Amino acid sequence: MPSHDVLIIGAGLAGQRAALAAAQTGATVGIVSKVHPVRSHSVAAAGGINAALNPEDSWESHAFDTVKGSDYLGDQDAIEIMCREAPEEILWLEHAGVTFHRNESGHLGTRAFGGASAARTYYVADITGHALLHVLYEQLMKRTEQIDRYEEWFTTDLLQDDEGRCAGAICRDLRDGQLEMFNAKSVILACGGAGQVYEPTTNGLIVTGDGMAQAFRIGARLQDMEMVQYHPTCLAGNGILITEGARGEGAWLLNAKGERFMERYAPNKLELASRDVVSRAEQTEINQGRGFPDGTVALDVTRVPRRRTLEALREIVNIGRDFAGVDITREPIHIRPGNHYMMGGVKTDVDGQTNVPGLYAAGEVACVSVHGGNRLGANSLLDTLIFGRRAGEHAAAHAKHVKMPSTPGSRLSDVEARIQAIMRRESGGRRIGAIKHELGATMNRHCAVFRDEAGLTKAHEIVRRLKEEAPNAAVDDRGSVFNQDVIGAIELGYMLDVAETIVVGALERRECRGAQWRIDYPGRNDEEWLKHIDISMNSADVPLVSFSPVTITRWQPEERTY
Ligand SMILES: Cc1cc2nc3c(=O)[nH]c(=O)nc-3n(C[C@H](O)[C@H](O)[C@H](O)COP(=O)(O)OP(=O)(O)OC[C@H]3O[C@@H](n4cnc5c(N)ncnc54)[C@H](O)[C@@H]3O)c2cc1C
Repeated sequence: MPSHDVLIIGAGLAGQRAALAAAQTGATVGIVSKVHPVRSHSVAAAGGINAALNPEDSWESHAFDTVKGSDYLGDQDAIEIMCREAPEEILWLEHAGVTFHRNESGHLGTRAFGGASAARTYYVADITGHALLHVLYEQLMKRTEQIDRYEEWFTTDLLQDDEGRCAGAICRDLRDGQLEMFNAKSVILACGGAGQVYEPTTNGLIVTGDGMAQAFRIGARLQDMEMVQYHPTCLAGNGILITEGARGEGAWLLNAKGERFMERYAPNKLELASRDVVSRAEQTEINQGRGFPDGTVALDVTRVPRRRTLEALREIVNIGRDFAGVDITREPIHIRPGNHYMMGGVKTDVDGQTNVPGLYAAGEVACVSVHGGNRLGANSLLDTLIFGRRAGEHAAAHAKHVKMPSTPGSRLSDVEARIQAIMRRESGGRRIGAIKHELGATMNRHCAVFRDEAGLTKAHEIVRRLKEEAPNAAVDDRGSVFNQDVIGAIELGYMLDVAETIVVGALERRECRGAQWRIDYPGRNDEEWLKHIDISMNSADVPLVSFSPVTITRWQPEERTY
């Protein structure tokens, strides 16, 4: 049985950063990923990473922008830590080998991003996530004596010992279907977000909320789950992202009448208001008949000098050409708001600790909460690295003081029996893809940019029905080698659990704040709703709602305008 001081589930930026930090302290580390690490979804991150590194900028300004961007739901102690530690992290990355853009004077160059009062986004063209992930992976490979990599292993369940401490995980080797029990003194979840709960989404097929659901099922609290970000510039139909970097470089948003409509919604920041504001403005234009017949508005990148576009935004030039048949250097491209990011997740403190002893979380799976009601662009990569590192350090320190836990071997046979039961299913049931499609379309219809009680209630009914249908969904592949059919059935269960917590949170919060825009409860209501919604599982498989206070250090809530 593999045993490690620290077991990390997920090898995106958060997981790899946690692994390096834990190994640095001398701990033995195992890192598990259901895909090859450099295929983790962090590789898709495009526009950049925020830090107040320029002498004329300040971490306080970065922190205030983040607090304001969060619509005052972010915990200010955590935001202060993230913004204060950001400059050093950028330098660490640079020294590790990330080839950040440099300006004409040879210094690290920045671009503007939404909701920020200074241009503080560091970037590598529009492939920043790719650049970061590959450099971290090189560092990981240098430490093979301490870090064991389990690539293309799928975690099915988290394990607890008799005292309720997280004691490891059960994982399936995707290459041959073999199940293994992993023991660990500390476990860090770094499984990423849950974009596939929605359709369309900017997130890849692997982003199915596994970590959130697995933690929830063993009693971890989820927080701010109703806060789901819709990114303003996604292609219609397939949801592919056009990075905010385009607006940072000077692109405009236009409605079908050719009006630069952001002048009406955010006269100061225009296209670079925060994402919730821009997405609502676009959806309002579309709903009120000023969009194009395909339900979109336009992003005009021709405002950016062509040479600069070809240098700094070359990936979205390719995306425009390959996925929309548009040369964005010569004509506007149709876009609309699309599902993008989970502000909510497994509730942690600033060291990644959850309420389950021995269980940590970092990255998009977690909610520290630094993003509150709305994440600022380029703050997520920062979150993965700062809190990935902190979780790695704390988990390693924790491991020094505890004995290797023991877990009953029967857990392995329970999971094996569950997987065999999935493989024995009749093939006549509804297809997994059909259930997933209904789930995604439901969430996109009723739990998107604008929400109300009737739509959310409907969504909840549908999710409950799909939860009943899912255990009978048809499976065709009965083999053991790369059986994605079985994995798809397990992931569907995770997605349905996560969807229910999102809808329950959205039904509960009766106000407008950040991404939660309840048209039946206009206005932000600090008196009643300046608090987090925490969701945990009760014994009857029904999400249980409780509340926790928002930490305010120095910025009292104010009216939010851009
Ligand atoms: C198109 C796009 C562009 C973006 N651009 C930016 C940007 O420019 N700046 C920014 O700040 N943010 C950006 N983001 C957001 C940011 O990229 C993500 O929030 C962040 O990279 C998530 O990193 P992570 O380490 O938490 O998770 P991920 O990178 O998603 O990694 C998750 C890991 O968990 C593993 N895993 C999951 N489930 C299991 C399981 N059951 N068993 C085993 N392993 C499992 C996966 O294999 C993977 O290794 C963007 C997001 C998208 C979708």
